[in-house]
Order: sequence, then structure tokens, then C-alpha cells
Amino acid sequence: MNTRKLEFKSKVQIENIQVEYLKETMKYASKYSPFYQKKLKKNLSLIEGIKKLSDIQKLPITTKTQIQKNNRNFFCNGVENIVEIVSTTGTTGEAVFIALTRSDLSRLALNEQRSFYCAGVTKNDIFHIAVTLDNLFMAGMAYYLGITQLGATVFRAGMRNVKKQSQFIRQLSPTGIVTVPSFLLRLADAIKEEGLSSRKSIIKKAVLVGECIREQDFSLNRLGTLIHEKWPVDLYSTYGNSECGISFCECKEKKGAHEHPDLIISEILDDDDNPVSDGKIGELVLTTLQTKGMPLLRYKTGDVTFKLTEKCGCGRNSSRIGPILGRKAQMMKFKGVKVYPKTIENAVLSTDGVTNHVIEVYTGDDYLDRVVVKIGCGRKTKKIKKEVLRNIEAYARVTPEVELMSVNEVDRLMTEGGNRRKMRMFIDNRKNRMNYD
Ligand SMILES: [Zn+2]
Repeated sequence: MNTRKLEFKSKVQIENIQVEYLKETMKYASKYSPFYQKKLKKNLSLIEGIKKLSDIQKLPITTKTQIQKNNRNFFCNGVENIVEIVSTTGTTGEAVFIALTRSDLSRLALNEQRSFYCAGVTKNDIFHIAVTLDNLFMAGMAYYLGITQLGATVFRAGMRNVKKQSQFIRQLSPTGIVTVPSFLLRLADAIKEEGLSSRKSIIKKAVLVGECIREQDFSLNRLGTLIHEKWPVDLYSTYGNSECGISFCECKEKKGAHEHPDLIISEILDDDDNPVSDGKIGELVLTTLQTKGMPLLRYKTGDVTFKLTEKCGCGRNSSRIGPILGRKAQMMKFKGVKVYPKTIENAVLSTDGVTNHVIEVYTGDDYLDRVVVKIGCGRKTKKIKKEVLRNIEAYARVTPEVELMSVNEVDRLMTEGGNRRKMRMFIDNRKNRMNYD
């Protein structure tokens, strides 16, 4: 099948394809996955009972803790078929490993080929890949496979040495870049030093991963606006989940990131694991399709968002997910009001004079969440502190403590622990930390 056309098929056709692939995944997992063998073999009627997509709700949920405790039991097929192992961070900070077969690498390539095609990338583009490409990281490798399969040219710059990267931009004139938003901001400054203007750079589009650049209504949030002010290129947001080897990417409409329906089934569930209706906020739960190394059924990603299923303005009928509003485990409670660190972060970013920040949460003497926003600024003035607090109150409708620090002190907090793939802006010190399950 012409894979690009699949997402333009009717809703009914797409659902029928997903039901067939779901049954195939269940049969495969019950045969080859030691973990699912136990769960599914006893109940093979479950597979036959899948007649429509909503029947997926009859299947058990899979959690990250389950994978962490039984990691090797999720690996299918024996080690002779595994060609690569990648990892993500588990709930306790220890790595969770994901096994990939050769066909999984092809699936990853196909997924990214379609994601970048969705963002309007063509074989005439030269793409600057500025994400981590080693350290068992999946996304960089997946982008490389997908963009080259699309026929565009790439260069793998990684995420180090901003100065050198700005020289690459001058010498190679890329037309697109894939990176994390905060790195793009740093690159914009480095380009200026290189004597180039980001406004005049030939880069026309940026595909951004890892940090949210949009509000719930899809308008640019503060981070997105900051980037667009510094570097007015066409911004596309992409969301990836390594456990499921999948990404969702925005199209030119920028009203949600499209799923690739023959590679993944997405659901949004409430706190009791019940499905919520279109547009309602809940946890993203994914079922892999056509995965051979480590298929996952109804995997709880821990990411909070919503889903849209109506036809998109671009003509695609594939479902879309909204911006990631936060991590479920990071949710904080202020006198009963639920807030995610990202919401506070957006408010902090909209304050002039703040260079960097960290949000720390503790368990207070009253056993409630105590939130301290640590602000790094060149000049420690009470005015900035007041302004930050006012913005947080207006934007997030809560009143945390705000502490002024030097830029270096905050920098140290952000990089403590070392060997991190990205800086941390949220530190969870709660006693009974809600371990994500
Ligand atoms: Zn679209």
C-alpha cells in the first residue's frame, strides 16, 4: 500500500486496518513475548473477541513499572533477531531497555519518513539533525533513518558544540532542522555571533521535539513565541515515544500531531483507565502495531494530552493528539488545584530578566506539596521576583514560593547528576513521590 495515502483513507477504512493489525499484534505477542504469553495465552478468546477498535478496552493495561520489573520478558523472538537495544529512563531513574529487530528499524524509518513528509519535508531539503545520536537514544537514530529514506539530505550534528553547529549552518545552508526548542534558542544566539542573521538564514522549517511549544488551543506558548521571535521559521511540533517506537507530527495546519494508524493505536484514558471523549484531557495510552522486538499493548505513556479524531484541514483522516500538557507523575496539587510544572514554566518564561529556572517540589510539614520556583537572573531584584509571581498567579492560578538565585547556581541544579540527555527543569523531592505506574 502507498503508505502516504493510508492516512487520507476514510475513517472506516483506517479503523478496519487498525483492527486487523491489532489482532495480528495480539497473536504475535501471545506466541513470542514471554510477558504477554502468560497474559494472553490463557485467554485466546480475547483475540477473537476483537471486532471493532473500541474492543481494545477489553485488553489489559501495560505500565512502565511492569516493563522495568520484567524487562527481558518483553523481548520477543530470542536475542538472535534483536539488532539494536535503546533505552529510556524508568520510574526509579534506572534505564528501561527496548529491543528492536531489523524490521523494527524499517518501521521506525517509515514512521519518521511519514512524520517529516507530514511536515512538508521533501527530497530537496537539507536537514540539520541537532539531537543526541548516541547514548542509547532512539529519536536521533529514527530521524536519521526517516529523513534519509524520504530522500532528503541530512547532516548529523548532534547536540554538542553550538559554535561549530552555527558554522555548519553557514557552510552547508540547511533548509530544515530537527532539534529541541531550547537548543534552537541557543543556536539562534550562536548564529548571530557567527555574523549570520537567523532571520536571513536559509532554514525554513524547524521540527521540534521534547519540549512543548503550543498552548492547549494550538497557539504558540511562551517558549514557541520566544523561538519564533528569535528565529521566524515555520515551527512544527513532534512527539515521540521510545517504548512504542513511534512519533506523531504536526502537518501544515498545526492543529495537533498526526498518528500513523497502521503503526500505532492511541487512546486517552482518565484516572480510572476509562476512555474519555474527543478533546477531553487524559493520559495517552499506546498500542504498537507491526512491532516485532517488543510489542506493547495499551502502554500507559504517563503523558497528558487529548485526542482529536475529526478530519484535519490537510485532508488526513488519521487521529491527532494535542500538545503534551505535562507528565502525569509530575502533577502537583495546590489546595486541590492540579498543576503541571510545564504550566508554571510557561509563566516563568514570559518574565523579562529571568535567564534560567528550576521548579522543585517537596512534601511540606502538612504533607501537602510545597513548590519552590528557583529563578536565575543576572541582577537579583525584588521586582523580578514580584513579576514572576504575578505571571505564575495569572497563568497557572496558583501561588508557589519564588526564590532568587544566581544564573550559575541554577545552572548547577539543572545539570546535577551528570550524563543527562537534557537539562532538568523539574526536581521532585516528594516523600511519597507518586511513582508513575
Ligand atoms: Zn493535518
